[in-house]
Amino acid sequence: MQVILTTPSPTNTPPYLHTFNDPISPFSSPIQPHNLSLNYKPKLGLGSGRVEAVKGSGSGGGTGLFSAIGRAIEEEEYRKARAEVQRKGFEIEGYSVEGLSVGGHETCVIIPEFKVAFDIGRCPLRAVHQNFVCITHAHLDHIGGLPMYVATRALYSLKPPTIFVPPSIKDDVEELFDIHRSMGQVELDFDLVALDVGETYELRNDLVVRPFKTHHVIPSQGYVIYSIRKKLKKQYIHLKGKQIEKLKKSGVEITDKILSPEVAFTGDTTSDFLLEPRNADALRAKLLITEATFLDDGFSVEDARQRGHTHLFELIEHAQWIRNKTVMLTHFSSRYHLEDIRQAVSKLQAKVSAKVVPLTEGFKSMYS
Ligand SMILES: [Zn+2]
Ligand SMILES: [Zn+2]
Repeated sequence: MQVILTTPSPTNTPPYLHTFNDPISPFSSPIQPHNLSLNYKPKLGLGSGRVEAVKGSGSGGGTGLFSAIGRAIEEEEYRKARAEVQRKGFEIEGYSVEGLSVGGHETCVIIPEFKVAFDIGRCPLRAVHQNFVCITHAHLDHIGGLPMYVATRALYSLKPPTIFVPPSIKDDVEELFDIHRSMGQVELDFDLVALDVGETYELRNDLVVRPFKTHHVIPSQGYVIYSIRKKLKKQYIHLKGKQIEKLKKSGVEITDKILSPEVAFTGDTTSDFLLEPRNADALRAKLLITEATFLDDGFSVEDARQRGHTHLFELIEHAQWIRNKTVMLTHFSSRYHLEDIRQAVSKLQAKVSAKVVPLTEGFKSMYS
């Protein structure tokens, strides 16, 4: 593998270094000692792959160069781990949840029953078959694969998808696709919907999606998916079948729509979303998929808050607001091993009645 190391001046630092500020990004995280292990050193300089590592604007001199090598190794290590992943779906609350979520690297969680992907990450192949994508925010680990998602659907002759975004990024997403259309001389068809917090969009006649407020370092929102049940209006309950049919044929609306929150997805957020009274539906959905980027004392609650993320300790502190049947934890920092994640899950499990499950695809055991 050939490793290209470049050391740009602050003026020509690629823009993604400025926009991609999740703390555990392969381009911005501190180097973990295990990333410089002998296991990975011999692979440098071999093979035909190519990794470009770029020095961040904050690091200096020789340390910066050393960090750049470290980051290149970290990215390579991550790609290797990802390639080995056997993706398995979870059966949760009647839904087969699939996904891949590693803080700073990629997040995409799929509910095939809804044909929905929450965020697109690097666009895992399984996501291509989902007709709807709900984007929580514009960090690359959540939105980076969007052009590939649209292009790959066209390649498979799948219908143009519907993509929901926070209204504040709609114009930029349009522009991004315009650039791809112009650069690649390709058609990229999709329906881009700016869906604001509290607005509702019908996915199917028995399913709607509605964004809710989250708190991150850039504009962000979560999504709740509701199932719709129709219930006969109280005033018609006493009527007989034929009378009801007659009323219906005459065009009278005889049913009430009952929305019941099925799945909520937060994306990146501080724990403040738990304290928003208007987020009650997210906290009573059958399944809440949320983040726990940091899990132990190695990273303080204050540090997590500053980076717009949730610390496990905060989920434990606010456990009384979690009314869901199942909570799926995602977006763990890549610094953690499976053992750290399992320990964290058991700590939270002791505090909530909900079943707690972690999304651990892409993470390794400390013994492997
Ligand atoms: Zn993220
Ligand atoms: Zn983010």
